[in-house]
Amino acid sequence: MSTDCIFCKLADGRIPTQFLHEDDLVVAFKDTNPQAPVHYLIVPRAHVASVAALETQHLPAVARCLEVAQRLAREAKVERRGFRLVVNTGQDAGQTVDHLHVHLLAGRPMEWPPG
Ligand code: 5GP
Ligand code: ZN
Repeated sequence: MSTDCIFCKLADGRIPTQFLHEDDLVVAFKDTNPQAPVHYLIVPRAHVASVAALETQHLPAVARCLEVAQRLAREAKVERRGFRLVVNTGQDAGQTVDHLHVHLLAGRPMEWPPG
């Protein structure tokens, strides 16, 4: 837990939010500034700044993020058309919240390469 981290506060309930999913390792909620018709954030409960700071002990939560992404994509009925998972890491990638999170984006065609 990090005292002034916004995603820690959301994950542990200090800032109330509606979870799309919650379990012992991760929570998921809607992004406040959606970039696609479906835009969810899947967030480990433990504070890890980014992929660059990952350690072996965090890997079960990372695996759970992918499992939850699959489930939420299925529930949003975008599994067949497709969806994109994004993990921005560091300044060049545009990471703005320094608590590891997976974006689940879907509901429109996505471009490649990304901007
Ligand atoms: P990043 O740019 O770090 O990859 O993604 C951070 C995401 O968190 C952004 O898409 C931003 O809209 C979202 N975000 C920032 N603050 C909040 C918040 O307080 N609540 C929610 N639900 N999303 C947030
Ligand atoms: Zn945090």
